[in-house]
Amino acid sequence: MANIQRRKSLTASIDGVRVGSDAPVVVQSMTNTDTADVVSTVQQVAALARAGSELVRVTVNNEEAAAAVAPIVEQLDKQDVRVPIVGDFHYNGHILLKKYPECARALAKYRINPGNVGIGRKDDNNFRTMIEVAVENQKPVRIGVNWGSLDQALLTRMMDENSRLPEPKDAREVTMEAMVVSALNSAALAEKYGLRPEQIILSAKVSGVQDLIDVYRSLAARCNYPLHLGLTEAGMGAKGVVASSAALGVLLQEGIGDTIRVSLTPAPGGDRTEEVRVAQQILQSLGIRSFTPQVTACPGCGRTTSTFFQEMAEQIQSYLREQMPVWKGRYTGVEEMKVAVMGCVVNGPGESKHASLGISLPGTFEEPKAPVYVDGRLFTTLKGDRIVAEFIQILDEYVESHYAAKDVSVGVPARALASR
Ligand code: SF4
Repeated sequence: MANIQRRKSLTASIDGVRVGSDAPVVVQSMTNTDTADVVSTVQQVAALARAGSELVRVTVNNEEAAAAVAPIVEQLDKQDVRVPIVGDFHYNGHILLKKYPECARALAKYRINPGNVGIGRKDDNNFRTMIEVAVENQKPVRIGVNWGSLDQALLTRMMDENSRLPEPKDAREVTMEAMVVSALNSAALAEKYGLRPEQIILSAKVSGVQDLIDVYRSLAARCNYPLHLGLTEAGMGAKGVVASSAALGVLLQEGIGDTIRVSLTPAPGGDRTEEVRVAQQILQSLGIRSFTPQVTACPGCGRTTSTFFQEMAEQIQSYLREQMPVWKGRYTGVEEMKVAVMGCVVNGPGESKHASLGISLPGTFEEPKAPVYVDGRLFTTLKGDRIVAEFIQILDEYVESHYAAKDVSVGVPARALASR
């Protein structure tokens, strides 16, 4: 694992999932089903949890949604899906949490957006009500500022104050500062209303990469609450993945961020679990956590005229993904395995030697054989039509021999990889 110095913070516990300081950086996601539709929401939460989401947030936007929360949690329990459910509240959270106490009890955490609960106006009653429900139910709260719904009264006041300065800052700087101030002021208010500091998580999301980096650096330096990190409205496809990776990569490398969410817009009918895989991949690429064995594949070039090696890389990647749920329960450390699938001998053997095991397929005009390396040494050379099947067999044997069985009661020493 990478030697990254995490920022010291308090640690919140969300139904046993620890967030902050030395706890692993937690991957979370959010459903896009209508929460009132219990069946669809349960299905999607289960899919997100199976993909590796360690917290799942659902919107609680109206009475039907609030009434559905407890049945959703109950159904998940029945299906043995143990993932804390977080409720996302805007505008009417104070009404819903009071009117549906079973919803308040069933949720593992509340997300409150200080920009739309009336903080600063009148006597902060709505915010106070939500915090008091959290205190009563012993629930942690994320105070989630978003620049799309930033507290306008606060922003206006700060803009006015700025305009009176001899050298006013630009509007962007004031807006970023207002995000941080909104989060910190709301946290102080939540403490005043009875929430313990270790029950508070902060976020301040924007959609620009440089803005996010600036805001979180500032937030990290000015408090010791755990931070929820994510680029809001990251976007679709490659744009969303790249922007999220760029922003989160910089901050995580600086030790900032205790739980992450990648807010991708799925294609119509697309797979919601992609945001979980991307979040995991960001953490694994940085060497912060390991989730699944990694396949290193070369991009291919004119030396590979067939698509065989691309197909093989994909088959191996799918095979690893399919096996992981089984392997995870059976073997220790298998998620750290590295597999190289290379298109020819130019970089193939070299890359294979750095992997746990690797294969270099024959490039154009090369002899039709594929050297396989195991732990840096040439292990065998495969030929013929069954290269993929034979490589997968070697891979299975490698897993069995290198990663100790988890259950010691059936822990017959793994058999050694037979030399060939
Ligand atoms: S390893 Fe071979 S096939 Fe792959 S990119 Fe390099 S030269 Fe091309």
